[in-house]
This record gives sequence, structure tokens and C-alpha cells, in this order.
Amino acid sequence: MVDAKGKIIRANKNRNADLLWASRGGGGGNFGVYTSYKFKVRPAPASATVFRITWSWDQFEKVFKAWQLWAPSVNTKLGSELSIGPKKGGNVTMTGLFLGSKAEASRLLKPVTSVGTPTNQIIRSLPYTKVVSFMLAPDPVLTQRVSNQFSSGFVRKPFPGKAIKSMREFLEKVEGEFAGFFFLNWGGAVSRKSPKSTAFYWRKAKFYVEWNSSWIKKSEAARNIFVVRNTRRKLQPFIVGSYINVPDQGIKNSGPVYYGANYPRLRRIKAKYDPGNIFNNPQSISPTRKV
Ligand SMILES: Cc1cc2nc3c(=O)[nH]c(=O)nc-3n(C[C@H](O)[C@H](O)[C@H](O)COP(=O)(O)OP(=O)(O)OC[C@H]3O[C@@H](n4cnc5c(N)ncnc54)[C@H](O)[C@@H]3O)c2cc1C
Repeated sequence: MVDAKGKIIRANKNRNADLLWASRGGGGGNFGVYTSYKFKVRPAPASATVFRITWSWDQFEKVFKAWQLWAPSVNTKLGSELSIGPKKGGNVTMTGLFLGSKAEASRLLKPVTSVGTPTNQIIRSLPYTKVVSFMLAPDPVLTQRVSNQFSSGFVRKPFPGKAIKSMREFLEKVEGEFAGFFFLNWGGAVSRKSPKSTAFYWRKAKFYVEWNSSWIKKSEAARNIFVVRNTRRKLQPFIVGSYINVPDQGIKNSGPVYYGANYPRLRRIKAKYDPGNIFNNPQSISPTRKV
């Protein structure tokens, strides 16, 4: 990393280890300019089973109710995400992978695939390179400048009816193929590390949730930003924290929201590596006065 004085700083577990800790979940734009990262990689399996199940929008509540009880505690070799688009033109899609056979995956998926009447169902065993392209379809090249307002949080208890009602109200208001709700199962390896082992705090959750609106015309901005922030207000009793990489500038006093109980330590590390607060933005980590 290059610091505010232009000095190159190396961080690893033996040297500037506090900066390494802060850089694993402390978000970008806070300590200096990162110029390179070294990652520990793991051997990929030869193959895995992927799945994509789709339902019509009107089935979203029963699918979501089943998914939120099943996804956090199903076999930790199975990862799934659930996307729910807007009422106007949207549908419900569960996508994911299982590090095992198609037969085993089909058995594990039953509690959700048996809900309602899926409109499409893909469960396929693939070589790992094909798994990656199945899971990460290239992002569409946008011909129009689409603006988005996101908000996000972590869920520790299944959403009750009141929270699902707020989801429905949001999904009935927003439009556009990129808008909607997105859920990701948590637990497994994520939760096996303690919340203070890295700067990323929100490890003890059942699942992650994000919702966004999208628009093209400037005149639509205020309404779309309001509907996302109003939904955050309604969901606040049922979520904790927020994900720094899916920021919402409407969050007040954002430090503890993004970083939980890790925020005070992050502020001390900020004061050590950027005491002048050169690297800052409206929601960046502010340095403590004393290191
Ligand atoms: C379509 C879409 C899909 C996404 N999917 C995922 C996902 O699956 N998982 C996920 O975790 N996130 C996801 N995100 C969120 C994504 O991680 C964030 O938007 C992230 O910030 C993008 O990184 P970037 O390098 O483009 O940084 P930017 O958006 O350019 O910058 C983000 C912050 O990092 C700072 N920054 C950028 N480069 C540096 C640098 N070299 N050194 C120091 N600070 C720097 C910037 O100042 C800024 O504060 C998605 C975002 C989009 C738009």
C-alpha cells in the first residue's frame, strides 16, 4: 500500500499486522492506495453441482419463507443465493452450487424445490471451470447509464411476516431488471472465524440481504432513493449492520453499522497510518485523536 506521504508499506502477519487486519474487511479508500494483494488460494474440486430454480413472482413469499429456514443450516458444502425481482416483470431465482453429486444436491434442495411450482429447474454436475461461468454470467454491458441505490444488512433470525410485508411493498414499487431483493446464505466457513479475527465483523448471521432500486431518468432519482431508504427504516428491527461494499449513504453514524465492535480498533489503525485523514469520503473511517 502507498500511504499519504507516498511511502510504500508492506503488511503481513509479521509486519504492520494491524494494517493487514484492517485491510481484511475495512473497506477501500480508508488507509492508503493498495497496489497489490497476495491471496492464499485452495485447490478447486474437479467438478461440482450447480443449480438454478425459477418461480413466478406471485410465489415469492412461500419460496422465501422456505429458503430462509433451509439455507443457513443446509449442508455447508451447499451455497445458495435468492434473487427476487420487482412485481412488474420480475421473478424469483435461486442459484447456487454444491460440492458433491447431482443426486445428493437434488436431495438437499428438496425442501425448497418442492415449494410451489417452479417455472424452470436446472440441477447439473459440471467440471469446475464450467461451474464458474455458470455462476458468474458476465455482467451485461449497459447501453444506458443505469443508476442504482443499494442498501444491505445481515439477518440473525428468520424474517417475520412484518418484514416480508415490507419486502412486498418495496417490490411493488420498484421497476427495472436490476432492482429487487438479493439474499445469500451465511454460516459455514464464514461463521467459523471470530468476528474480531479480521475487520469484517458480521459473521454471526443466518443470511445476508441487499435490496436496490434502479433508474435511468434523473427525475426518478429521489423517488427511487427514498423507497430504498424507507425500506431500510422498516427492516431495521430485523437486520444488523451493513456491508461496506454495498454502501448506503443514507446510513447515519455509519462506522459501527459497517464495522460493528471492530470500529474503535479501525479508528486507531486509521490514526496510525493516515493521521491527517487524507483518504476520506462521507462514510470513511475517521482517525481517533490518540493512537
Ligand atoms: C453489479 C455488482 C455486483 C457486485 N457483486 C458483488 C459480490 O458478489 N460480492 C461483493 O463482495 N461485492 C459485490 N459488489 C460490490 C463491489 O464489491 C463493490 O462495488 C466494490 O467496491 C467494487 O470494487 P472496485 O474495485 O470497483 O472499487 P470502487 O467501487 O472503485 O471503490 C470502492 C472503494 O474502494 C476505494 N478504492 C478503490 N480502489 C482502491 C485502491 N486501489 N486502494 C485503496 N482504495 C481503493 C475507493 O476509493 C472507494 O472508496 C458488486 C457491485 C456491483 C456494482
